[in-house]
Amino acid sequence: MEFRKDPVTQNWVIQEDGEFSWAEGPCPLCPGQESLNPLTLYEHANGAGWEVRVTPHPRPVYRIEGEAERRGEGLYDKMRNVGAHEVVVEHPDHSLTLSRQSDEHVAQVIRACVARMTDLKKDRRFRYVSVFRNQGPLAGQDLEHPHTQITALPFIPRSVVYELRSAQRYFSLKERCLFCDIAQQELAQKLRTVDWNDRWIAFCPFASRGPYETWIIPLAHSATFEESVTAWETQLHLGKFLAGILRRVETVTANYHLVLHTSPNLNAKFERAGHWRSIREDFHWHFEILPVFPQRAKSYSIREVLYNSVRPETAAERLRYATA
Ligand SMILES: [Zn+2]
Ligand SMILES: [Zn+2]
Ligand SMILES: [Zn+2]
Repeated sequence: MEFRKDPVTQNWVIQEDGEFSWAEGPCPLCPGQESLNPLTLYEHANGAGWEVRVTPHPRPVYRIEGEAERRGEGLYDKMRNVGAHEVVVEHPDHSLTLSRQSDEHVAQVIRACVARMTDLKKDRRFRYVSVFRNQGPLAGQDLEHPHTQITALPFIPRSVVYELRSAQRYFSLKERCLFCDIAQQELAQKLRTVDWNDRWIAFCPFASRGPYETWIIPLAHSATFEESVTAWETQLHLGKFLAGILRRVETVTANYHLVLHTSPNLNAKFERAGHWRSIREDFHWHFEILPVFPQRAKSYSIREVLYNSVRPETAAERLRYATA
């Protein structure tokens, strides 16, 4: 496998070598099957065994060894698929999805992510550490066992670069954080809010890309997730809020992506000096939840412009009053 960059769209795309299908057999993430996945990168345990465990992904898309060796082929760019690909096993119970776990347990999952992100960002080869979870088969969940994935990459994904640039531009014009302004406006209008308290707000974004898209933004400004969610008390507070929002989303679909957007690795070797100079002021970490519906793929493939069949105001109202 290797990364190839499309010179037109600027997307780095991972190129598979061949077809792959999971072998039949026991779940490699279940307690008792640790020999299938022996390396433990992080563990939270109680007397009875592990509660949350982080291991290399049993079928990694990226390889941890070596350098990216960026090289050209005429006008094209490619590099080795160097990176980290880890799986946060969220719970010993094979069928207990994140949103149904206790608040303390969700907080332990958040704590595991914070620990791994902090560790991975010490590796100067990696420019971005990404955290996401695919829930349900339509969202591409490959392993059935409840898990979150963490990847560390030698480039910043294009969707994040777009956000970083747009936040930087807004800050240079207004000397204010775009996300703080969005959060304050949504809180004042309450047209698209799903839930909020004194620390977090969840809402359906004004130009939602699809039905029931939901963002979670901390009300206190912070560019970097793993630096601002270090205290157990904060992890607990966020865990409770996040699980509550996921349960609301699950009243409309069993399939969704949950993605964390946070600042890139500012220690990375190839980060241009001063490029993200104002990042601590201009960027603001957040979660994005993108529900997947069976009909969505169709509308995607026939249109150049994203099409959302449910107005965000309607979606938010439904999620706000959902009894989860
Ligand atoms: Zn399992
Ligand atoms: Zn902000
Ligand atoms: Zn984002």
